[in-house]
Amino acid sequence: MHALTWGACLKKAVDSKHYAAPLDIDAVLRITGGTMAIPTGKLGSQLQLKRCPHCGIASPLFVKMWEDATTACDDRNPRIWGVYKCSTCGGVVLCGADPQFRGITEQYPRSENINEPAIPERSRNYLGQAMDSLHAPAGAVILAASSVDAMLKAKGYKQGTLNSRIDQAVKDHLITESMGKWAHEVRLDANDQRHADEAAPLPSAHDARRVIEFSKALAMFLFVFPAMVDKGLKDATQGTGNKTPVSKSV
Ligand SMILES: [Zn+2]
Repeated sequence: MHALTWGACLKKAVDSKHYAAPLDIDAVLRITGGTMAIPTGKLGSQLQLKRCPHCGIASPLFVKMWEDATTACDDRNPRIWGVYKCSTCGGVVLCGADPQFRGITEQYPRSENINEPAIPERSRNYLGQAMDSLHAPAGAVILAASSVDAMLKAKGYKQGTLNSRIDQAVKDHLITESMGKWAHEVRLDANDQRHADEAAPLPSAHDARRVIEFSKALAMFLFVFPAMVDKGLKDATQGTGNKTPVSKSV
């Protein structure tokens, strides 16, 4: 059987008549970056976050730059909005709150965390540390590559170099050729930093984020999505799932 692309896998599952349980979209969002921590706190002069969603620094100082109120065209859905700036990286976060109690109900971008139990602990820890190290991009790149390495090991690819293990994973159709190429790029980026290659430019936060996004996608592909499908099949077998095939609008 040929390896399927991520999109094809998703479409196959959605279209499958055997897959009766709804997709756990929260699990998808937890790992793909849509979501993560639910916003909390009040719209005050400072925003309290554990980490900056842009640079990952702990206990960031976010000071409010702007505030205004909006409603929908029919005067419903009144909200107040505040924009906060990270004093470390200059990235901004937009928060929406209810006007009466000022409790924050929306946050863009949200703070990310990786709490998906389907991802093996070691890979999850490396990935979480990489996301927390965006303010130190060279370290984040190495950590993200370690996460990829740990994922392959968790899948039984333990012998040889990371280079040979990536190639073997492609040959075995564990990952697609494109994912293999991307994994090699991550490996080479990390090698540049590990060996302090003088010819290689230091990575930016953008470079680190790109590497982290790949690691997250790989975790999704190898662990999260298969676990969701297994759960869906199990629920369907036990009669606890939704008997209606998943809507294509999901
Ligand atoms: Zn920041």
